[in-house]
Amino acid sequence: AKDTGRNNYQFFTDDINQKLVTHLDLVRDLRLAISNEEFHLVFQPQLCLNSYKLTGFEALIRWTCPKRGFVPPDQFINTAEDTGLIIPIGRLVISKACEQLKSLIQEQLVADNVVMTVNISAKQFQDESLISHIKDELQRNNIPAHQFEIELTESILMENIDEVIIKLKQIQQLGILISIDDFGTGYSSLGYLKQLPVNIIKVDRSFVSDIPESKDDMEITAAVIAMAHKLNYLVVAEGVETQEQLNFLRSCKCNYGQGYLFSKPLASQDLLAFCKNYSAT
Ligand code: C2E
Ligand code: CA
Ligand code: CA
Ligand code: CA
Repeated sequence: AKDTGRNNYQFFTDDINQKLVTHLDLVRDLRLAISNEEFHLVFQPQLCLNSYKLTGFEALIRWTCPKRGFVPPDQFINTAEDTGLIIPIGRLVISKACEQLKSLIQEQLVADNVVMTVNISAKQFQDESLISHIKDELQRNNIPAHQFEIELTESILMENIDEVIIKLKQIQQLGILISIDDFGTGYSSLGYLKQLPVNIIKVDRSFVSDIPESKDDMEITAAVIAMAHKLNYLVVAEGVETQEQLNFLRSCKCNYGQGYLFSKPLASQDLLAFCKNYSAT
């Protein structure tokens, strides 16, 4: 019995050690990725569901590690967040997103109300220099503030409400748009969010993906859109994959859509081709 106990303990510590080594390994590779510029962005188009005009793009980070190969964001954003590495990574995302929009504007491939939106994590939102960095990048790339948007999750907005409101107001006063990402997956209500200066609600993909199979999800989606409109928010549906989902969202008067039905996230050169094609048709 003693031996088994010792073995279990051994397994337990081995397991912890293994996790720690894996974690430290990832942290080291992430640091290298920053200095070796292994990140790039892809951009997913957003469309108006009424006119089908192109209204914007969401910038999404991609990491190709020489050792690990392609690593999806879900596998490193949390670690980047925990270690603070999300700050330099996030700055890089903002810079690259602004540069991409600048070149689309210069090439006259987009209308002057097309919006570039970036994901902002909790640590990044708390960072004192976030606002001045965004301001600098907009200026450097000649981008009007109304063509830039930040996406925040509900959980970011649930903490320190007073501080959050002050910061959101500062951002909104600059003319930058603010959206709530993954709406419906957290515990906040639209009533709570009503206190916050936010322009746009992004209905989470998990509600859209089971339309039309799940009648519950259809009712929830319809109710969220109707309520959001009553509270003067614009609504984006995420993860639109089928014509049926699109038809349903249009019947709910959802303003914008994003998803594989319209386009996958596109690398820079494919984005140029998409915009050329799109403005031609
Ligand atoms: P998110 O912000 O909810 O981004 C949408 C995700 O859904 C993206 O995954 C996108 O590729 C995927 N997607 C878009 N349309 C469809 C569709 O029709 N069907 C399906 N099945 N998926 C679709 P991705 O790029 O793997 O990003 C995952 C998450 O990683 C993002 O979720 C976001 O939370 C985070 N992330 C990505 N880029 C950044 C970044 O630059 N900064 C931060 N802080 N987080 C990021
Ligand atoms: Ca997002
Ligand atoms: Ca989302
Ligand atoms: Ca997400």
